[in-house]
Parts: sequence; C-alpha cells; structure tokens
Amino acid sequence: MTIKIDKKIVGYKVRSEDDKNAALAAAVLPATSASNVVMMHEKIERPDVLIGSTYKIKPPVGEHAFYITINDIVLNEGTDHEQQRPFEIFINSKSMDHYAWVVALTRLMSAVFRKGGDATFVVEELKAVFDPQGGYFQPGTGVYMPSIIAEIGAVVEKHMKRIGLLKGDELDEHQRALIAEKRKQLAEKAGGAGATGFPAEATLCNKCHHKSVILMDGCMTCLNCGDSKCG
Ligand SMILES: [Zn+2]
Repeated sequence: MTIKIDKKIVGYKVRSEDDKNAALAAAVLPATSASNVVMMHEKIERPDVLIGSTYKIKPPVGEHAFYITINDIVLNEGTDHEQQRPFEIFINSKSMDHYAWVVALTRLMSAVFRKGGDATFVVEELKAVFDPQGGYFQPGTGVYMPSIIAEIGAVVEKHMKRIGLLKGDELDEHQRALIAEKRKQLAEKAGGAGATGFPAEATLCNKCHHKSVILMDGCMTCLNCGDSKCG
C-alpha cells in the first residue's frame, strides 16, 4: 500500500512492541475495553482442565473406528455472555493409515478454534470434501458421506449444534405436514420401508444426504428434509 505524503514531515516515532500489542488488542478485543466480556482469541491460555465430548465414527471403508474428541472452553461463565466454544480437537484410531493427515487436520482445526471469531465455517469446508475413491453410506443412519473428512465435518457440526454455536435444522410446520402426509400415502401404497425407515428404492437427497428421495405424484420428494422439486 502506498501512502502519499502531501504535508511536511515534522516528526516521527518508531512503532514499539507496546503500540503493536495495543493495536492488536483493539482489533481482536473490541468488547473487552467497553465491558468485561471475554471473547475468544489466541492469547487465551488453555485452562488445566477442559471438558470434552468424544464421538465414535466407523467408516465402512476402513477396518477401524475413529474417536473424535472435542474439548470446549466456557467463556464468561455464570454471566449473560456465557459461551461454550470448541477449544481443541483430537482424533484417535487404531488405524495408522490416516495418521499424517489426521494430525495435520486436527492441529489446524484446533488453531482455528483458538483464533476466535466464527469457526463454524470449518463444518461446510470439511463436509464438501469428496473422496475420489468414492464415499459411503454411514452405517445405521444411511446418510451419504462423500469422504471420511466429510464425516468428521458432520461430527463437528453435531457438536456445534449441541453447544449452541450452530442452529439445529428444525423443519417448519408446513414441511413437517408435507412429510407426514407423503409418508402416510407411502404406507398406504404398502411400499416396504428399508432399515433406515425409507423405502429401499429411495435415492439420495442432494440437500440432506439421506437416501430418502422418492417419486410421489410425479414429483421427487425427500421424506427426510422435505426437499421437493415441485416447491
Ligand atoms: Zn433431504
């Protein structure tokens, strides 16, 4: 950046470390100067004890399960500004096949969490990673996972919804009514529901990634999230 100086220079000062820190503090902590609200930023020291949640995933593409631990920090505890935020993430597995990228990924994610600001974007970034070898259907739920990384993203999303950083995807009344009606029609037609509760011939929904889209009344409709090509 070039700055044009059109006045006479009458004095100068070398920027000290203190000035830099003050500018940084003003940039990252706009709220602290006004009140005592603590925001997440990289200078917050890790407390000796953090409470965590460990999620297990078992991608069918590998032999071993992954244990994903997310430790949270609670800021401004006991005040109106109390906020629970993820502070660090660890992934453990017996499988050593993925060791290097898992370490890289968790270190970067932990750094993003500790940096402060909105960290929820990591969910969409991870969920959009497609494995060129092909994804898989999550055992039990039948949700399509385009890669192991995407499933890790889904776990982070679940966790952020639990601690209130992300909103749950509640369906509105209209969507719920539509899904209930479509399911009823389907039951009347006596189509056998698969293990996931959706008909065996259901196809993948582009919106919620469940195998739950069926053709009804000439219209592709998702029985899980209500997404419909006909509005
Ligand atoms: Zn759907």
